[in-house]
Amino acid sequence: MKKFARLPWKKVDLHTHSSFSDGVLTPEALSLLAQKNEVDLWALTDHDTLEGLPFAQHFARLNNVDFIPGVEISCAFNSKSVHIVGLNIDFQNAVLQNALQNIKKSRFARAQKMSAELEKVGIPNALEGALSFCKNPNTLSRAHFARYLVQIGKAKTVSAVFERYLEPGKPGYVEHQWASVEDAVLWIKQSGGVAVLAHPGRYAFSKNALHHLLENFKEAGGEALEAGSAAHSPEEARYWADVAKRYGFWVSCGSDFHAPGEQNRDLGRVPLLLEPSKSVWHLWAI
Ligand code: AMP
Ligand code: MN
Ligand code: MN
Ligand code: MN
Repeated sequence: MKKFARLPWKKVDLHTHSSFSDGVLTPEALSLLAQKNEVDLWALTDHDTLEGLPFAQHFARLNNVDFIPGVEISCAFNSKSVHIVGLNIDFQNAVLQNALQNIKKSRFARAQKMSAELEKVGIPNALEGALSFCKNPNTLSRAHFARYLVQIGKAKTVSAVFERYLEPGKPGYVEHQWASVEDAVLWIKQSGGVAVLAHPGRYAFSKNALHHLLENFKEAGGEALEAGSAAHSPEEARYWADVAKRYGFWVSCGSDFHAPGEQNRDLGRVPLLLEPSKSVWHLWAI
């Protein structure tokens, strides 16, 4: 875990994606955008892969942005997808690398099934189409399918494609066996990182199920909640910061930036944290 002598950051973004997963910018382009948007602490958190991290670390240093290596691990809880971000991990850790290798393999098999399902509703060759939007087939995702479906005119926006084809219950959605919350937290901790429950406002859980998720996550060793997210309104961010306090979590924030102009969230555009003293980066002070 990287440690810092001072915590001088004014604009922090601890959740972003590069073209090594389903973002469209390279780590180098992201580091330049971070610099341009005056983000002074930036984490790259690609889905289920560490492949972009050495590049991001190199270019962040070159462009004078403090950098935190991260990852966003796809998990399932109560058969629904939840995401756990690992921050300040050691990206050379073999346990974490091996675990993610298995997830990456299963992603491709899932993409083949998705393509077959889309064919049944009159959309042929979706796998090839998705691959044409994907620089790293190791992390082929629904977002790549969505961009292809926009290109061939199935809907106007990526979000509309998700609503029509790619969400649970829709024609191109296939059930998938992701990691358990316990495993993901364990891998992150074994690599020296902090486990953060990402964008809690996006999960369609009942109050009861959400409580179980937060308890399980905490029990497993999870330490922070992503209250500041472009997926949350400022009011929701406040709500989740309050939940974090009740459960004894640190608070994190990130834009979940994927692509310029997509979903209207720019890198560094995150609701401000109201109580800086509860910020997860205090764990990284010397
Ligand atoms: P996957 O990991 O393959 O299941 O794909 C999940 C990714 O799809 C997320 O990380 C987002 O980038 C994107 N995504 C999921 N839901 C939506 C949505 N409703 N609108 C736009 N993008 C979405
Ligand atoms: Mn994504
Ligand atoms: Mn996510
Ligand atoms: Mn994300």
